[in-house]
Amino acid sequence: MPGLQIAVCVKFILDPKDISEESIDPATGTINRTKYKLVINPLDKHALFAARQLQKIAGGAVTVVSMGPPSIAEDLTETLALGADHAFLLSDPLFAGADTLATSYALACGIKKFVSDFDIILCGARSLDGSTAQVGPQLATHLEVTCVTNISALSWKQDGFFNLRMKLEDGYLSFAAKPPVLCTVNRDLNTPHPPTLMDIVMARSKNVAVISTQDLDLDLNRVGLAGSPTRFKDMFYPPSKRKRDLLTGSPEEMVKTLFQELRTKGMFGQ
Ligand SMILES: Cc1cc2nc3c(=O)[nH]c(=O)nc-3n(C[C@H](O)[C@H](O)[C@H](O)COP(=O)(O)OP(=O)(O)OC[C@H]3O[C@@H](n4cnc5c(N)ncnc54)[C@H](O)[C@@H]3O)c2cc1C
Repeated sequence: MPGLQIAVCVKFILDPKDISEESIDPATGTINRTKYKLVINPLDKHALFAARQLQKIAGGAVTVVSMGPPSIAEDLTETLALGADHAFLLSDPLFAGADTLATSYALACGIKKFVSDFDIILCGARSLDGSTAQVGPQLATHLEVTCVTNISALSWKQDGFFNLRMKLEDGYLSFAAKPPVLCTVNRDLNTPHPPTLMDIVMARSKNVAVISTQDLDLDLNRVGLAGSPTRFKDMFYPPSKRKRDLLTGSPEEMVKTLFQELRTKGMFGQ
């Protein structure tokens, strides 16, 4: 039995602790990715860990596909240390400026070429930066496969179905899905382990393949800015309606001032 062919989409994002007004380019509204260290989107680690667990039970191979700047090729070796057998980085100036539709189209072309016989594609439910939660469902649409979002439990049944549990706002939905299927996952799915020293050493013998538009069978009008039907317009913080008064003095004085202020505003009735 050949086992499961599992594709995992991994996005590299700005480390959340570096996100501030300075990390955003005011002209384009996009994150200045060249200036900061990028890290794996946290939910994508859950997706990768689930892929590895599936592979341990059913066999097969785990392939990571990512789209981003060439600088992340080295960072992608972390996914190999985390258990991926192969990693492909789609990187080309023609991919730049992609919105979610153009991103998902490029990822679909990469998956069609390098994991054409996939049984399951795992994505994070959302990224921590763009956070549109659109890429997974759009990717499923491009590939014309079943899409199940916000998965918090996943296992492979030997009868040829995946057992899935989808998290809803006020409960869960359990069902079986026949491959090929795309799942977006949330953090309840598992607790990813960091790679061991041995995993890191073993990863050095594997390669990250950097793929350009020329390596893929794609329509150049559908990638990058040219293939993006949305445009960045503006970015702003919502105006705060809160008024802030800083109290000074000893704790007793501050409490007294606070009560006087609240009384003046009628908070304790007339
Ligand atoms: C007009 C426009 C121009 C833009 N230009 C740029 C640009 O020049 N450079 C830039 O970096 N961003 C750019 N962006 C942002 C870019 O479109 C998003 O970062 C990207 O489409 C992913 O969206 P998201 O973060 O909301 O993904 P979500 O849908 O929230 O992500 C869900 C999951 O999809 C998968 N995924 C998402 N993106 C990728 C990826 N790149 N590779 C692999 N898996 C992925 C991951 O599994 C992730 O957990 C632009 C956006 C717009 C609207």
